[in-house]
Amino acid sequence: MKITVAKTDRPSGLTLIPVSDSSQQKNQYSLGEGEWIISENDAKRELHFYFDDSKNAAELADAGRLLGYKTSKFWGSDAAIDLKGVKNTTPFLRGLFMADYDLGFSKTDRVEKSEPALAVMGIEDAEHQIEIAKVEAESQLKAMRLVDLPRHVKTPEYLGEEAMRSAEKYGYSCEVWDCEKIQNENMGALHAVGKGSENPPVFIICRYHGAPNADKTHLALLGKGITFDTGGLSIKPSTNMHYMKCDMAGGAAVLASIELAARLKLPINLVAVVPSAENSVDKNAFVPGDILHSYSGKTIEIIDTDAEGRLALADALAWVRKNENPDTIIDMATLTGSSVRTLGYEAAALFTTDENLSKTLVESGMNTGDKLWPLPLWKDYDSYIHSDVADVSNLPLKPLAGSIAAAKFLEVFADNHPSWAHIDMPGMSFKDSPFAKTKSGTGYGVQLFADFMRKTIEKF
Ligand SMILES: [Zn+2]
Repeated sequence: MKITVAKTDRPSGLTLIPVSDSSQQKNQYSLGEGEWIISENDAKRELHFYFDDSKNAAELADAGRLLGYKTSKFWGSDAAIDLKGVKNTTPFLRGLFMADYDLGFSKTDRVEKSEPALAVMGIEDAEHQIEIAKVEAESQLKAMRLVDLPRHVKTPEYLGEEAMRSAEKYGYSCEVWDCEKIQNENMGALHAVGKGSENPPVFIICRYHGAPNADKTHLALLGKGITFDTGGLSIKPSTNMHYMKCDMAGGAAVLASIELAARLKLPINLVAVVPSAENSVDKNAFVPGDILHSYSGKTIEIIDTDAEGRLALADALAWVRKNENPDTIIDMATLTGSSVRTLGYEAAALFTTDENLSKTLVESGMNTGDKLWPLPLWKDYDSYIHSDVADVSNLPLKPLAGSIAAAKFLEVFADNHPSWAHIDMPGMSFKDSPFAKTKSGTGYGVQLFADFMRKTIEKF
């Protein structure tokens, strides 16, 4: 989508105009759930759409995306949108930027359509707002695209190359450890998860120093990067297994967020870490009953090879804890079906014992629509990760409170960091939408982290 500042206030083509009162409109038709109603006035070449300025940023972004998605075919080459009087324009523009995202990467009859273009009128500081909306949109689209790509394209190595490309382009640093280095560094948990696949695991470390005067890392973002999850030898049922390409959505959000920070030159020191592997079935695959030696030094009994994301993250958390010493650590993972059974597709599960961090993240979730809600990390759940033979087990023997048990497991490897949070978000990162008939990537986490970083910077 191409969005520019209008050169004139008298556009020659179709003009999109928001109206707050839909009752007087003729030729009404719905743009989705009865919310978006437009009327066309051929004489004036105007297209009116119902617009509720009281909506929050997330709803305005959704509205912009839906408007562009449903109407761009009418625009022609010289369309404009008049946003005079609209208060919160940046999220609406961000949504418009995302309107032409197309899932059909592999369709042979895919025609390269000309990019829809729209000139914006009636807003202050238009150039700046458009630039911010564009970066926010492109970052979220990057996360969506990575999630939607098929397994054989987006291998762990591909994620590493993608991180390197972005770092080079936008001026931050990145290193990618290969399987040998992972083994040499004693990341026994991450290595075990990836060793059954022809696509070897990688460990991605990106660093962005936006605040060179501060001699520390303010924030570490960790994302689970399981590029495909068959469940391993504890194999998943075949129904919906094709959706398991989304199991790196936390990693995608983290990589997109550091790109966003670098592009917007946010004054923050950030490290983004993605332990990435494919959980596959093979003679080399790890086996239930195995004991893994993790990077932290702790041993892990494998009850179920499908609880692999927490293993990859355990090594990443312990590595960040030992080598980076950040003020705050947040990990994000498509970790448990239990979180979806608890909160549905409406919110991710948040775990932290830092009350301020919890409050800020919940607030950022509400602001951006990337909602999350706290669940407990009480001692009462300690027994859920008990192992008789190793230091911890990777799955509770009783099938209860799965999301909490996973968080309790990770807590061991966060090793009493005073400001650590874990976000369990499979239901939010890959779901139904008005833009596709199957589930697809949402880019959950990118706007959440953008908002959270801005709030963090305000407190410096
Ligand atoms: Zn799994």
